[in-house]
Amino acid sequence: MAKILIIGAGGVGSVVAHKCAQAAKETGVFEWITLASRTLSRCTDVARSVKARTGVDIDTAQVDADNVPELCRLIRQVKPDLVCNLALPYQDLHIMDACLECGVHYLDTANYEPLDTAKFEYKWQWAYADRFREAGLTALLGSGFDPGVTNVFAAWALKHELDEVRVLDIIDCNAGDHGQPFATNFNPEINIREVTAPGRYWERGEWVETDPLAWSMNYDFPDGIGTKKCYLMYHEELESLVRNLKGIRRARFWMTFSDNYLNHLKVLGNVGMTRIDPVRFQGREIVPIQFLSALLPDPSSLGPLTRGKTCIGDLMRGVKDGKEKTVYVYNICDHEACYAEVGSQAISYTTGVPAMIGAKMIVEGKWREPGVWNMEQFDPDPFMADLNVYGLPWQCVEME
Ligand code: NDP
Repeated sequence: MAKILIIGAGGVGSVVAHKCAQAAKETGVFEWITLASRTLSRCTDVARSVKARTGVDIDTAQVDADNVPELCRLIRQVKPDLVCNLALPYQDLHIMDACLECGVHYLDTANYEPLDTAKFEYKWQWAYADRFREAGLTALLGSGFDPGVTNVFAAWALKHELDEVRVLDIIDCNAGDHGQPFATNFNPEINIREVTAPGRYWERGEWVETDPLAWSMNYDFPDGIGTKKCYLMYHEELESLVRNLKGIRRARFWMTFSDNYLNHLKVLGNVGMTRIDPVRFQGREIVPIQFLSALLPDPSSLGPLTRGKTCIGDLMRGVKDGKEKTVYVYNICDHEACYAEVGSQAISYTTGVPAMIGAKMIVEGKWREPGVWNMEQFDPDPFMADLNVYGLPWQCVEME
């Protein structure tokens, strides 16, 4: 029985609160849940929905997660065993500092990014490893779907299906439609920074860089989704997977985008609206991407509008018993089913469920080890079993 403090009451934080309440009710794993965010009213809205859907009461609080003393005051008052960070990547280091100061475990779903550079690197968070180890605390990084489940799929395949993973292609397909002219499925600022960054993949021991979204391929997705165009991007889980996956020679990440999404993004980029550096406007400084983000639909408002499915999985070619073997491990998730269950679309759902399971792994002691860890470094089996229990069932198929 553990107390958990969730920080961030956006699309993903809401799903985590609902799923923690569900798990608390079914297994008693979480004894008490507190949801804190910058805007208190968002927390109270989520708490009301959690109560209506699960019958579980959760506490709410207001906090600025960039203010470490304020965070520490809240942590000392709530006395959680674990802080689950579902705010934005900019807050990661502040929340890790507060966890160290107050002696609690830490979990997030996205690597730290400095505000003024769209850099996707674990170096800042890996640098905390000694301090977490010496404090006897666990920090689990990237416990969403990608990163997160995609790392665990690779670890599971390496444990059960392959002796070595030589070629890894992580393929993320959102075949859902929200009917809006242009919207992002998670925080617009973070999403656009990621998509407009140069592509990068791992090939024979080094990183190869491409222009943003310059490479594409068609992939035929299962379960009636069919063939979709996927674009090569850099994604943060590649950095830890090329370190931790035995035998890896090539690792790439692909994501589907509609022509409509890409056309909007191109125009916005051409006119400077995706810039992350400050510009002077009417006597003050504004950051164009932050202004754009304020104009775009709130991702949590897309829940009732989105129809269709997501399919995210790892296609892995390697060797088993000296013979070549290719496996595809994937999950299919339905936007409308997610909305019916927790009031959110599938992108928030597929991120929030693994965050809850990661928290459960830590508090149950299955993944509790002092230090800073990526998901593939722990035993994948209990996590994979819980994916089936908590709404993200997966399949493994052998491919030609
Ligand atoms: P949202 O923008 O919907 O929610 C972010 C929440 O964090 C908001 O409630 C916001 O408060 C709060 N917040 C922001 N800054 C602060 C602060 N300084 N102090 C306290 N609270 C703050 O984002 P999402 O829910 O879509 O995404 C959450 C995280 O999940 C992001 O880091 C994102 O990168 C990650 N993610 C990971 C994925 C994965 O598969 N690994 C996939 C999708 C997302 P306010 O309401 O006041 O704005």
